Amino acid sequence: MTERARELWLDRVREFAQTRVAQAAAAWSLGAHPSPDFYADAAQQGLFGIEVPTELGGVGFGFAEKVLVAEILAAADFGFAMSVINTQNIALRLSISAPDAVKKRFLPDLLSGRTSACTALTEPGAGSDLAAVATTAKSSGDGWVLNGEKSWIINGRHAGLALVFAQTDKTAGLSGLGAFLVDCSSDGVTRYAIDSGFSQTSIGTGGFVLSEVQVERDKLIVPPGLAFRTIMEEINGARVYVAAMCCGMLDAALETATSYGHTRSAFGRKLKDHQAWRQALGEAETELAAIKALTAEATRRIACGQDARLAATQAKIAAVEAGQRHLPVLLHAMGAEGLRPEHCLARHLGALQTAALADGANALLKQQVAKLSRPTIPTPEA
Ligand SMILES: Cc1cc2nc3c(=O)[nH]c(=O)nc-3n(C[C@H](O)[C@H](O)[C@H](O)COP(=O)(O)OP(=O)(O)OC[C@H]3O[C@@H](n4cnc5c(N)ncnc54)[C@H](O)[C@@H]3O)c2cc1C
Repeated sequence: MTERARELWLDRVREFAQTRVAQAAAAWSLGAHPSPDFYADAAQQGLFGIEVPTELGGVGFGFAEKVLVAEILAAADFGFAMSVINTQNIALRLSISAPDAVKKRFLPDLLSGRTSACTALTEPGAGSDLAAVATTAKSSGDGWVLNGEKSWIINGRHAGLALVFAQTDKTAGLSGLGAFLVDCSSDGVTRYAIDSGFSQTSIGTGGFVLSEVQVERDKLIVPPGLAFRTIMEEINGARVYVAAMCCGMLDAALETATSYGHTRSAFGRKLKDHQAWRQALGEAETELAAIKALTAEATRRIACGQDARLAATQAKIAAVEAGQRHLPVLLHAMGAEGLRPEHCLARHLGALQTAALADGANALLKQQVAKLSRPTIPTPEA
């Protein structure tokens, strides 16, 4: 695709996000569900196949374009952005690792938005500590039998397909984990929705119980020994697009608050003409520029195949925390008006709490930054 065609594609994604998604998001934040036509429209823009090769029906772009789309969609609604990107990620994983028959069977439904999909690691007893995953996969005849429970999964409440991480050998620890493609309409799968104080409808959080679920042999998508390494690489990429989503949300909040300052008057002047009122916006703009630079560097490293563990982790920590610092201040800068659901601020503030947990809780990521930054301790001169 030419640079011009790429720009036109991004313009169409922006138009979709800023009109359709942003307008519906207020109702989603109050508990309404996105209707199927939103997924069909997202599919029409190619959003479920951003990184899927064109010969398999995708758009054929790379990681950098996924990051841009994540930022654009999250500026309108973080939950919808996460939902779309998570289905995209399963389409990409199948395009890389699945046997041809599995690709042929499932890719068309994923790319057309008819089926959503999820990556299922977390369990009621295993969140940050992935070694505690208790879902088991036992080899049986011509396939596998899965038992266990997954919870807090994006798209979990409506996913047609789940990439389930399950333990194949309890004595092998993390290297015993395999990644299995589970058809969520199979016998033995019971899905449930998870709601919270922050509406979870557009992100689709849910869980499922797996009871004696039969999985054919060719649905072992990433085998034990490779699955843990593969998912850690994916999570590293996810930290970067989550950072980009936080940039998108802070950008949208700034845009909203700034526009409001041009229309609302207090004490005989527009809010924007009060020096003290502008200071909060200036501080947020400065941090937005800093987190965009960190995110761009992490994106560049991944796109070039360089080690991006430190850059990705730092980008995610900084972007989440910048959002958490500035969103309450920007919300306050709009007075009571900021709380209305048709503005993005309260919704994005809630979403930032989710961003702080997804793809590595920030508290744990800081420990990782300390380890990765200075791996060797200089020996003091004798
Ligand atoms: C909206 C949403 C969507 C999600 N989507 C998915 C998904 O699609 N797929 C999926 O598999 N999972 C998903 N998750 C789960 C997410 O990955 C977990 O919430 C995350 O890994 C943290 O696990 P936990 O919530 O069990 O917290 P815990 O691991 O129980 O941690 C609780 C708190 O203790 C802290 N903590 C834990 N260990 C340490 C330590 N050693 N030192 C210091 N502090 C520590 C953590 O930082 C956290 O603040 C989602 C979560 C949310 C909220």
